[in-house]
Amino acid sequence: MPDTPDPEHQIWNNRVNEALKHITGVDEAAARQILNEIVVKGDEVHWEDIAGLEQAKTSLKETVVYPFLRPDLFKGLREPARGMLLFGPPGTGKTMLARAVATESQSTFFSISASSLTSKYLGESEKLVRALFALARALAPSIIFVDEIDSLLSARNDTGEHEASRRIKTEFLVKWSDLAHAAAGRDHKDGDDAQRVLVLAATNLPWAIDEAARRRFVRRQYIPLPESETRLKHLKTLLKYQTHGLNEKDIEKLVNMTDGFSGSDITALAKDAAMGPLRSLGEALLFTPREQIRPVQFIDFEASLKTIRPSVSKEGLEAFEEWALKYGSSGA
Ligand code: ATP
Repeated sequence: MPDTPDPEHQIWNNRVNEALKHITGVDEAAARQILNEIVVKGDEVHWEDIAGLEQAKTSLKETVVYPFLRPDLFKGLREPARGMLLFGPPGTGKTMLARAVATESQSTFFSISASSLTSKYLGESEKLVRALFALARALAPSIIFVDEIDSLLSARNDTGEHEASRRIKTEFLVKWSDLAHAAAGRDHKDGDDAQRVLVLAATNLPWAIDEAARRRFVRRQYIPLPESETRLKHLKTLLKYQTHGLNEKDIEKLVNMTDGFSGSDITALAKDAAMGPLRSLGEALLFTPREQIRPVQFIDFEASLKTIRPSVSKEGLEAFEEWALKYGSSGA
């Protein structure tokens, strides 16, 4: 029986074909590569999947989601920012936030890293950057999400900078500025596509970003380590789908014991603890029926805490806080 394409897929294909017809001066192979490798579809993240980070969520709603959904209200002084940076220690939910923004603002999500734009063929990388921005405009509203932006837009370095990476960086900054100029142009129509493209970037090394690039991120949002309330929510979410014997008091204790842990440290801890009941079976694991496996207990967490330690040091954290004070707006 022939496959019937699902309607959503069909709508997407039509949009892409229409977009490809209208963009000019872009290499078709590069555009196809961007569409295949860089546009993320499916696998949605929603606000409620992310524990805590309320201030960051509010800021992202104001900066991106509302302007994308109601472009008619966000003009003139309310014109949306063209760039937003999420910075902070690793594993605190920056990538999750970016994906949630794309889902909630119904945007096309372009997810790139320096390596996805780097080509060993001379001139190919610039073509990819041009195709990226042209497609983002043609498929607006769009979010261009750059993970580890520091490696794409690192501070200029006279000695060691590789010619190819310098060229990608220059092309990226030029195309990004074009976007801002087009969006600021007096003659733009309502809902003009350049109005609804945002470069959203994440980094664990905000100080390594080129100054010119830093200026373009009008909003710089610090994503700190989770506070106790956030850790509590996160732990409860993780335990929701697991049979366990932890009571409220045990969970409270865990919240205190995980001070200094990032979101991904907490996920790693819960995953390790969930292995406890299986570990205690040893070889019997192979023939024990599922319903006879004991629930996860507090002792499993205690055992896992011996090996799963916070990945961010105190000194590391201070560096972020200092940078946030100087250049960022902070908020959990
Ligand atoms: P990196 O800087 O290392 O790329 P990141 O800040 O982008 O990290 P994510 O990739 O968003 O972090 O998060 C890593 C994992 O940690 C997620 O897949 C999720 O399991 C967990 N996590 C982190 N923060 C949260 C949170 N606030 N709520 C729920 N899960 C979280």
